[in-house]
Amino acid sequence: MSNCAIVGINWGDEGKGRMVDYFADQYQVVVRYQGGNNAGHTVINEYGKHALNLLPSGIFHPETINLLGAGTVIDLKHLCGEIERLRAAGVKITSDNLKISDRAMMVLPIHPAQDQWEEERLGKNAYGSTRRGISPVYGDKYMKKAIQMGDLMHPEALRDHLKRLIDWKNTVIIAGYGQKPVSYDEVLAWVEQYGEILKPHICNAFELLKNAQKAGKNIMFEAQLGALRDIDYGIYPYTSSSNPISAYAPVGCGCPMLKVNEVVGVTKAYSTCVGEGPFVGELDGDTAHDLREAGAEYGAATGRPRRVAWFDIPATRYGTELQGATALALTKIDVLSYLDEIPVCVGYKLNGEMIDHFPYTADLYNCEPVYEVLPGWKCDITAARKWEDLPKAAQDYVLFLEERVGCPIKYVSVGAEREALVIR
Ligand code: GDP
Ligand code: MG
Repeated sequence: MSNCAIVGINWGDEGKGRMVDYFADQYQVVVRYQGGNNAGHTVINEYGKHALNLLPSGIFHPETINLLGAGTVIDLKHLCGEIERLRAAGVKITSDNLKISDRAMMVLPIHPAQDQWEEERLGKNAYGSTRRGISPVYGDKYMKKAIQMGDLMHPEALRDHLKRLIDWKNTVIIAGYGQKPVSYDEVLAWVEQYGEILKPHICNAFELLKNAQKAGKNIMFEAQLGALRDIDYGIYPYTSSSNPISAYAPVGCGCPMLKVNEVVGVTKAYSTCVGEGPFVGELDGDTAHDLREAGAEYGAATGRPRRVAWFDIPATRYGTELQGATALALTKIDVLSYLDEIPVCVGYKLNGEMIDHFPYTADLYNCEPVYEVLPGWKCDITAARKWEDLPKAAQDYVLFLEERVGCPIKYVSVGAEREALVIR
């Protein structure tokens, strides 16, 4: 038995979903341990191209159990829609292969609404939220007012908890945002409508995972978002509201004594960032435009253009350390094939002095990137499947990053399709 976490090293959108989809047939259980439908994991395989928001990326393997763990937050209507979309594409989704922890939290329509009102209130200081209600529901969770999925099986508890939540929300939204009160009956009807569809999937994740472990099954933990968006260790407050770091995987999956044996950190061959916050070395003008177009860097969940920069060694080293990565997967290296030369940010200068660590968030605004420039390879590498298939300059690029980041790059992805991968 070996458990593995597939996690993001940077600001998200590193290609985690693609890597989980690749590995999923070696794991009998794939579990999402944090986040909600703010994720956008693009997977391309025999079922077509799908952007997964909530469903674990192992859903395409019919024998794999896919679990939404205790640390996730679930928009009931959105999940029902995602299930329907995938079923329409021929993916088998049943109460046997899709499970939902009874401890996961519900995202109700009030949460995206509150997310939107808050971003509007913040105006130019907005966080760049996906506006899917994620921070309001995690806020509610820690205020002990959110509703757990297991309440769907306990109608009396559901009514009681919902009543308390709505009473409280109305005091906040009427006075705070000048909005009309939310109707308890309408929310209850919404929960009952979509809850009915999801009920058969609800389980005790602790028992499920404990028994899976006992039976010698391999468990994969799928992160959503990258290390730098971790609420405790990322670029707070420009983070997500949960912990995508691998250390949280046992807690968020629903069975906290599970061990993570391997951590594969996914990092892109250049940097991208969606949303606000400091982003050292951010490119603009034609250089940014060309890289964004080459990499099709538009958000999978939101369609927003992603901010772009060259590969960032200080940020990637920090992300690798935070994740405790045992190996790295470098994705989208094929995107760089158009370049004569490839700059790499090898360090930061803070107020004119070189620093050897990833600094406190406020200091990031005063950091200047320091670059080294590597030769490009200027040829199509998307057909490479073995290390020897890569041109020398591409191999050197990988080896340079590996040496500077300090973690073996075991996987090099040269395309979005499942098989477009070089394993070293
Ligand atoms: P995630 O959120 O980490 O799962 O990543 P996203 O799916 O949001 O973004 C990664 C994007 O890059 C997706 O559109 C993938 O299909 C695509 N992709 C992943 N790996 C590669 C690769 O090696 N080459 C290219 N060209 N595209 C890739
Ligand atoms: Mg994404």
